[in-house]
Amino acid sequence: MKNARRPLLALAVLAALAAATAPAAFSASAPTTTPTAHPASLPDQKTIVIDPGHGGLDVGAKGKFGNVEKTVTLAISQKLKALIEQNMAYRVLLTRDKDIDISLENRSALANNNDAVLFISIHANGSFRPATGAETFYMSLTDLDEETRKLAYLENNSSQLEKRIADEAKDDVKMILWDMAQAAYIKQSARLAETIQGELPALLTMKGRPSRSLAVENRGIKQARFKVLTGVACPAVLVEVAFISNPEEEQKLINVEFQTNVAQAIYRGLVSYIKSIGPPPPPPSPHPSPSPAP
Ligand SMILES: [Zn+2]
Repeated sequence: MKNARRPLLALAVLAALAAATAPAAFSASAPTTTPTAHPASLPDQKTIVIDPGHGGLDVGAKGKFGNVEKTVTLAISQKLKALIEQNMAYRVLLTRDKDIDISLENRSALANNNDAVLFISIHANGSFRPATGAETFYMSLTDLDEETRKLAYLENNSSQLEKRIADEAKDDVKMILWDMAQAAYIKQSARLAETIQGELPALLTMKGRPSRSLAVENRGIKQARFKVLTGVACPAVLVEVAFISNPEEEQKLINVEFQTNVAQAIYRGLVSYIKSIGPPPPPPSPHPSPSPAP
């Protein structure tokens, strides 16, 4: 009898260890653990992870006027988090809620450690060539065309910084991260990319402001080998909202109205994705469909 129980005991110990170490790992590297930003989930409450691209020393792409990607992505992510929490019965975690370094691995692991059902990474595009527009990516298992390979290289390039962070935190970071976990979710991720990208151009066209449109071009959905997506064990996409390397779009990106519109577009995309796969079972409310929070 004793022997039979031993594997169970070992499992319980492992589970306890994982429970004890996982939040500690992230409280050190990802300050999403403030009481308001990281609430405990209700028993069956699902978690959505939003990932504001870059942060800290990794500023991301830069604009001609000195604006940087990491600031814009955080602003949009915070707006998106607020929208989801106000209207849906999901818990939302940000991989960062301030200007700090976080490795791409830790971003994916935050999603896996919290059994996230959706992962959305927010970015602003950069290109040496004149380019404009919004595009949504999901992971590719193979290398594709030259342009997406270059973009993936730029987005994955913060890995030099990550190596340093990983070395520093090697002993206390216990991550649940499965290599290429995303491979099992490609189909759902493609669908999520489709619904989000489907909302972006429409909402970015400003109503009632014909002289100063905040519209951006629709570049469609694409696939690329983004490192931040490969280890995520749920449907995951990376949204390149607009080109910060394009001076006109840089101005849009720092516009609060534009940021709000982007957050709303992504939110609507999420809602239609969730509707298309059927509602999750949120315990506090009988239906997860958008309804204004009290
Ligand atoms: Zn980026």
